Amino acid sequence: MLHKNRLYTPGPTQLLPSAQFAMAAATMHHRTADFRDLYVRTLADLKSFIGTRNDVILMACSGSGAMEASISNLTSPGDRVLVLTAGKFGERWSSLAKAYGVKAEVVSAPYGETFTLEAVRAKLDGVRVVYMQGTETSTGVRHDVQGVAKLLKGTDTLLVVDAITGLGTTHFDVDGWGVDVLIGGSQKAVMIPPGLAYLSVSERAWQRMDSTSNPRFYFDLRKERKSAAKGESAYTPATSLIAGLGAALDFIRGMGNGDLAAGRYDLVENAETAAAMTRAAAEALGLQLFAKSSPAAAVTAIHAPEGVDSGAIVKAFRTQFGAVIANGQGDEMKGKIFRVAHLGYYDYLDTIAIIGALEHVLATVSKTTHSELGPGLRAAQTTYARRVTFAAAAAV
Ligand SMILES: *Cc1c(COP(=O)(O)O)cnc(C)c1O
Repeated sequence: MLHKNRLYTPGPTQLLPSAQFAMAAATMHHRTADFRDLYVRTLADLKSFIGTRNDVILMACSGSGAMEASISNLTSPGDRVLVLTAGKFGERWSSLAKAYGVKAEVVSAPYGETFTLEAVRAKLDGVRVVYMQGTETSTGVRHDVQGVAKLLKGTDTLLVVDAITGLGTTHFDVDGWGVDVLIGGSQKAVMIPPGLAYLSVSERAWQRMDSTSNPRFYFDLRKERKSAAKGESAYTPATSLIAGLGAALDFIRGMGNGDLAAGRYDLVENAETAAAMTRAAAEALGLQLFAKSSPAAAVTAIHAPEGVDSGAIVKAFRTQFGAVIANGQGDEMKGKIFRVAHLGYYDYLDTIAIIGALEHVLATVSKTTHSELGPGLRAAQTTYARRVTFAAAAAV
């Protein structure tokens, strides 16, 4: 059959058509009134999307650039910070801290799990900043941002959250919980290509930057804040990506009937429903979920069946259906798990399609032939009906 190229990866994700058109049409110079209008509007919309009154800074880099900025801007050499890690992106915090001469204490959990708040509490003494993920994309686990934020209430320890796949898939109350820095990236839930990162910065995080001394130049947040106040960025911005981001935030506002915060809420619920359908399908097909106790809505990580390399599953999705899913990341998980994303522009039909394809793929790669088709789809249908159809019927 004909193949459409479809991304089911946890970044880059499927592109939003209206954002693609906006990017293609964006011929603009960045020191003009046209661009300043777009930039000011997009920064304001990003605040609503993140759900904060804090300033939001847009950067021309992938998400890791914003992670680096939140180390280089908020620390001095020799500072003690705490890294909460249970996967490849958590480990990136430790590597960044090391690169900037920062002493990183670590609270870790095995891949597929999350850490306990008791373990976090026990390590907080003398810590200047806590770094964590909202959702750990390499394992499909959701961490307890609210719980960690509560532990930090009333202290002067800053909380930095990599929400690069968490935004748009998890409900956060940035200001209510006291998240000092929340980071997002363009190639995830906002449905545009890679190349932009953004972060919200609290007043006390800005104050911290007055006294920190780690080197920074291109990723100097205070410099960007000054420029943003004038409707500009310090250097040449990624103009077409910003036009795309503006269109994507308009789309999300449309999901909320004109209210961007309501649209974000719906986008999160959309991911939750797609993830719940996928988990139910995987279990009905006799597969083991990798993140059992605290699964994220951004991405579902699933063990390959006994004796099957998950790379064969990834390959079969590609060759049989044109669908790109993700293998496990790093030596420990590659070949063992596969990951299907629900991050951004995915709907009911996409979800049903990938589950239908999974049933055929399993029959292809398994040594024991799965002759029965349908249990995964049936479980997904039931989950959808419980969450959406019956809920809507009950509301009438
Ligand atoms: C995608 C992602 C990043 C950023 O990776 P880049 O390749 O730099 O965009 C960071 N953290 C998480 C949790 C991610 O999913």
